[in-house]
Amino acid sequence: MPASDFEHSPGVLRRVPGPAPGHFDAADSTDDAAPLRQALKRHFGFDEFRPGQEAVVRDALAGRDLLAIMPTGGGKSLCFQLPALLRSGVMIVISPLIALMQDQVRLLADNGIAATFLNSSLDARTAAERSAAVLRGEIKLLYLAPERLMTADYLDSFLPRLIAARGISAFTVDEAHCVSEWGHDFRPDYRQLGQLRARFPGIPVLAFTATATGRVRDDIAAQLRLNQPARHVASFNRPNLFYSVKPKGSHSYAELLRQARGAEGVGREAGIVYCLSRKRVDELAARLADDGVRALPYHAGLDAETRRANQEAFIRDDAQVIVATIAFGMGINKPDVRWVVHFELPKTMEGYYQEAGRAGRDGEPAHCTLYFGTGDIRTAEFLISQKIDPNNGEPLEQEQRIARQQLRKVLDYAESSECRRAIQLGYFGEQFSGNCGACDNCKNPKPVEDWTLEAQQFLSCVARLAQRGQRFGSAYVIDILRGAANQKLIDRGHQQLSVYGIGKARAQDEWRVLARALLHQGVVEESGDSYPVLRLNQASRALLKSERRFTLAVPPRRDAGLRQRGSKSAQPIIAATPVEAALFERLRELRKRLADEQKLPPYVVFADTALRAMAAQQPVTLSGFAGIPGVGGHKLERYGAAFVQLIREFLAE
Ligand code: ADP
Ligand code: ZN
Repeated sequence: MPASDFEHSPGVLRRVPGPAPGHFDAADSTDDAAPLRQALKRHFGFDEFRPGQEAVVRDALAGRDLLAIMPTGGGKSLCFQLPALLRSGVMIVISPLIALMQDQVRLLADNGIAATFLNSSLDARTAAERSAAVLRGEIKLLYLAPERLMTADYLDSFLPRLIAARGISAFTVDEAHCVSEWGHDFRPDYRQLGQLRARFPGIPVLAFTATATGRVRDDIAAQLRLNQPARHVASFNRPNLFYSVKPKGSHSYAELLRQARGAEGVGREAGIVYCLSRKRVDELAARLADDGVRALPYHAGLDAETRRANQEAFIRDDAQVIVATIAFGMGINKPDVRWVVHFELPKTMEGYYQEAGRAGRDGEPAHCTLYFGTGDIRTAEFLISQKIDPNNGEPLEQEQRIARQQLRKVLDYAESSECRRAIQLGYFGEQFSGNCGACDNCKNPKPVEDWTLEAQQFLSCVARLAQRGQRFGSAYVIDILRGAANQKLIDRGHQQLSVYGIGKARAQDEWRVLARALLHQGVVEESGDSYPVLRLNQASRALLKSERRFTLAVPPRRDAGLRQRGSKSAQPIIAATPVEAALFERLRELRKRLADEQKLPPYVVFADTALRAMAAQQPVTLSGFAGIPGVGGHKLERYGAAFVQLIREFLAE
């Protein structure tokens, strides 16, 4: 498989210790809480703020600079949109992608909020009309691409005129990690935004991002020259996501297909399948389509029009599943993705967190499953070895070393028997303890077995080699233990070692799991960057002397996937009654019809959350309907009658 067939993340991620993540202040319950809530309901239809939103909104209303870090699905948009409506003047929102601007403007328009965007996709006349509307005060939020904002035309002419005519309430920088070279979506145009502070010192700058790394966060504040910003760092925990890792084997496709077809009473739900290579994406998408799933591929090898069409089909619920490389990412604001499957090993933990995090932005239960097989490790290692300098064909050692470190973190995650959530959050410097109740390891703790004997066999092999002044990595040690007859081993005389072949009873995969567990538990150490070799430490010696024991969560056996067949991973955590499920389906159909009529994505009309509440509460009057979360004044007027009528008809049947 050629390395060029794979898509690489645009930058290498480096982690540095950042400031300990603080947390949102508890929402203060001052007297003016009520009007803010009312505005929330009126404009957006929500009864409650999500954790942290209210504090950000208050700081934005107070005219402070701010840096708000919230995970995907945390509800960032509302944190600047509500202040934009409540403050005088126009809010300028800087966004990196046309698709993101369109999506937000569509959503706002459907809530009856005056917003528009200006970008290169518009002809000159439309752009001029929109600019005029902004100057006339008909618009509260203006979305702009940074390259447009930073032109002389805007800085010297349009913005000063706007300030004189209407005022600018704030500059909001969305996806603010794009200013940082340390992030994974660096955009040189974003770097210029630092000038805004010098040009317009009195206008607050509000920066929003879901980045998880401390270095990028600090860089954002510095690059944008934020002035004593209020820093808000939300927890990166996504409680509605269920994480699991499953062994990969011949049964995995059947499991994926079951996931796509949906459990009984749940129906087919939107999902994303991530693969590493374009070839694999095409194959898997075709296979799913053959099996009757509306699945489409997405990768950088497809032409722009196909990519756009496939993405749009997914967003409009015309395609149920997207099979994609990591090229499919930012710009996908679809809130009702119910499952994300990684069919191949992600390259970094940050990548995994962000990709899996595209599930369940609406806060409803969603599943994130990683399929993991040892073959994937070989593929990943092969890809890393292909990182070579195109000029001289030499290996890029620094990059390879970082990639190996990243891979090791992913393997730690995949093989761990600890809480998946705790590991992910720990990777971002956040503590999580206790049983999360929503990961495979917490729900079904793996049985623990005593592997002291095997651990001693392994360590004594390392010790024998060390006595001869030789150091090797775990793969070689396993070869000796399993009595492999490879030529190098014979040439070195290692067949003569007393430990040669003593570990035949265990499969190679089992030994690998043991070796990694020894490393994780600190019972043996690894050193050397590109070719890690093993060394013994205090703990190894204690184990060899039987002063301590070694236990291991039982490694997944080959048939483990089959035994799990009965488990319905797609089952929502809160089960609906059959009647509710049937009504939900009908509501979904109505939503789809109304959306198609207006050429909108269905989630713009109503989120799944709102449909579920309708199915459960079954309001038959408009005033009852107004109480549904997600139904604001505008949506009530626009869609209330149609939905109430459907519910009435359904109940009559
Ligand atoms: P982010 O940009 O942080 O990923 P969004 O702003 O797109 O998140 O919001 C994610 C989803 O959560 C959207 O569907 C949005 O309508 C919904 N949402 C935001 N705030 C609230 C709230 N207070 N109550 C209910 N749903 C909310
Ligand atoms: Zn857990």
